[in-house]
Amino acid sequence: MTEKLAILTQYPDYAINIGIEVHVQLQTKSKIFCSCPNSVDQAQNSQICQICAGYPGVLPVLNHKVIEYAIAVGLATESQIAPISKFARKHYFYPDLPKNYQITQDKEPICTLGKVKIQTLDGSKDIRLIRIHIEEDAGKNIHAPSQNISLVNLNRTGTPLLEIVSYPDITSAFEAKQYLKTLRDIVHALGICSGNMEDGAFRADTNISVRKKTATEMGTRCELKNINSFKFIGDAVDYEIERQIKLLEKGGIVRQETRLWDTKNRKTVIMRSKEEAADYRYFLDPDLPWIEITPTMIDIVKTSLPELPAAKFQRYLTVLGLTEYEAEIFMDEPEAALYFEAARKFTNSKQLVNWVLRDLLGYLKEHKIALETCKLTPKYLADLVDLLDQNIINNHAAKTIFEQVAKTGESPSVLVEQLGLKQMGSEAELELMAQELIAQHPEHVAGYRAGKTKLIGFFVGQMMQKTQGRGNPQIIQKVLLKLLA
Ligand code: ZN
Ligand code: MN
Repeated sequence: MTEKLAILTQYPDYAINIGIEVHVQLQTKSKIFCSCPNSVDQAQNSQICQICAGYPGVLPVLNHKVIEYAIAVGLATESQIAPISKFARKHYFYPDLPKNYQITQDKEPICTLGKVKIQTLDGSKDIRLIRIHIEEDAGKNIHAPSQNISLVNLNRTGTPLLEIVSYPDITSAFEAKQYLKTLRDIVHALGICSGNMEDGAFRADTNISVRKKTATEMGTRCELKNINSFKFIGDAVDYEIERQIKLLEKGGIVRQETRLWDTKNRKTVIMRSKEEAADYRYFLDPDLPWIEITPTMIDIVKTSLPELPAAKFQRYLTVLGLTEYEAEIFMDEPEAALYFEAARKFTNSKQLVNWVLRDLLGYLKEHKIALETCKLTPKYLADLVDLLDQNIINNHAAKTIFEQVAKTGESPSVLVEQLGLKQMGSEAELELMAQELIAQHPEHVAGYRAGKTKLIGFFVGQMMQKTQGRGNPQIIQKVLLKLLA
C-alpha cells in the first residue's frame, strides 16, 4: 500500500495520466516467421537463418500458434478480435534489425478495445486497452567498449511479441504496478509467456504526463523505458510525477522525451528527446497474407482457456473461504496455491491455510528448499492438521511432527506413535499431575490466591514440562483454574 505522494498533497489540483505499452514475448517452440527455435539463451547467433538475418528475397511464413496466443490474450482482456487484421512494415535503421524494417501491425491490429480489471486502494477499476498487436522482436546489440566495438546477436530476432497498449487511465505508481502485475498474471496463467521482467520476456514502456485538473488536454508525456522490475517502475513513476509538477510550477515546460531510471541515484535521466517524431513509413507487408479469424477459431481457443486470475481470486474467496489477504498471497505464490488446493481435498480444517502460509512457506524459506522437493506432501499436511483438530496432538507436537515429516517423509500418524507425541487429554490424568504440582509449590499457590493471577503461567509451564509437551493446554488450564480457586 502506498500513501499519497507528498507532491500531490502539496499541489492537489494536478491530475496524473499514465498509459503503458507492454511487450510480451510468446513462448512458442519456433519463431514467428521462420522455423528457427525460439530459444534466445543458446550460443550467440546459433539460432538464426536467412529470414532472421534479413537476406534479400526470403519469404516469411507465419507461425499459427502466435494467432492462437493473441486470441487467448484478446479473450482474457475482453477485447474485440478483428475478423481481418494485417501485417505492416515499420522502417527504422539499427544494427539489431538487419532487414531495416520490423514486421508489426499498424492500422489493423488483431485486438482492440479490451480492458484489464485491477485492484486499487478503493476497489476495482478497469484499465481500457487501445489495442493489442502482433510483431517480431529484434536482435540484441552487445557493446564492448573496452574493445571499442559493438556486436550483434540475432538469436532474439523473430521472437513473437504481443504489444498491449493501454489508454492513459492509470493515475498512480500503485495502479501502474497493479496493472502490470495483473497483466503478467494473465499471460502467465495462459501459459504463453514466462512473465519474467529481468530477462526481458515482459517489458513495459510507461508514458507519464501531468496536467491541471481543469485542463482539457493531456500534458506532454515522458516515456520511461527499459525498467525491469515492478518496484523500480513504481519508484520511477513517483519520481517522474514529482519532477514534472515541480517543473511546471517553476514555469518550465515538460519536453517529450524518453527517460531511464538510474537505480543508483534514484532518479530518471534523459535517454533521447522525441521532438522530431520518427517517420516509420508504415505500409502493408506484401509478403504476408491477411490474418483471417473465424468465430470457430475463437471458440476453439475459448474452450481451451485455463482459469484466469480474476476468476481464481473470486473462487479463493467464495469457494475456499479465504480472506482477501490470504488469497492475494496465493495469487503471488502459485505453487503454494496449488499445494493448498491439493491439501484442501483431504481436509476441511480452518487451520490448513495457516499451516501452508505460515509454517510451510516459513520452513521452505528457512531451509532454502523448493516446494516440489519438500517431503511434506499435501496429504501429509492435511493429516497433520486433522490430528491437531481432533485433539490427538497439541500444537507443540504438531510443530515437531511437521519438521520430522518435512525431513524424513514419514507419515504424521506413524510419527505420532514413534515419537510418543499423543496428547495427554484425559482430565483425570492431568488433574492428578496438577494436584502433585500444587502440593510442591505452596508459596506460588498462596501468591496466586492473594491476587497474582499471572502465576497461572508458571503452573501451565510446569505442567507442560511434566507432560513433556504433550498435555492439552486447554484442559491443563481448566484443571489448574479449578484447583487453584
Ligand atoms: Zn530464422
Ligand atoms: Mn512494439
